[in-house]
Amino acid sequence: MAEIIPFKKRKPSEKHKGSTLCRSGFHKWQIENKPQFDVKQGKLMTRTACQRCGKVKTKAV
Ligand SMILES: [Zn+2]
Repeated sequence: MAEIIPFKKRKPSEKHKGSTLCRSGFHKWQIENKPQFDVKQGKLMTRTACQRCGKVKTKAV
């Protein structure tokens, strides 16, 4: 099962496209888990992460 994947340079255009969108605020948010109660804020919070740049944010439900 273990394959040796040769190190390749990613297409700069792809990476650039993603980061440009992210920099412009157009993140590809995906919910990571179910709403969880945040004791500090006293609210239900959902954790979401951007699939392109990996940025994480929490949002009140
Ligand atoms: Zn992003």
